[in-house]
Amino acid sequence: MALLPIRIYGDPVLRKKSEPITEITPELRQLARDMLETLYDAPGCGLAAPQIGKNIRLVVIDTAIPDEEEPRPYIMFNPEWEPEEDAKPCDYDEGCLSVPDLFCNVVRPDRVTVRFFDINGEPQEIKNCEGLFARCIQHEVDHLNGDLFVDKISTSDRTLNQSKLRKMAKETQEKIKKNKR
Ligand code: ZN
Repeated sequence: MALLPIRIYGDPVLRKKSEPITEITPELRQLARDMLETLYDAPGCGLAAPQIGKNIRLVVIDTAIPDEEEPRPYIMFNPEWEPEEDAKPCDYDEGCLSVPDLFCNVVRPDRVTVRFFDINGEPQEIKNCEGLFARCIQHEVDHLNGDLFVDKISTSDRTLNQSKLRKMAKETQEKIKKNKR
């Protein structure tokens, strides 16, 4: 098991569209386990592969409350979601391990169906996902498309946080430049 460094806002890997996974190899299974360990260590409720520097369609999710509930880990290869027919738009203050210390309201459908392949390569479908689980699925799949929650916040929230985001991106880019030399 290994903890993986989490990429921060401003890293170009977070903006690339991720490739579908064609074969679930032992290496990918190990990567998924390492991502879960990284998630629990952070701690967070979801982590997508671009956040650890890999542009592949893999996410891990656990929305159980640490120390209060039993862990509910999900490893999802090639996840896709769609809103339930009667889903309603829902407000929630979102955050992201790649955008530290920033929380803003994002409106998303409150109930979704998710389809994915599990760690054994079996196709899975979970209907009527709701609450934090539904939110997390949508947030993580956004990562696979190069989208971040800060793209979906209100204009006023964006204005309010613009300098913070610019500073974060600049620091990340300086760090990347330094590591390349
Ligand atoms: Zn995120």
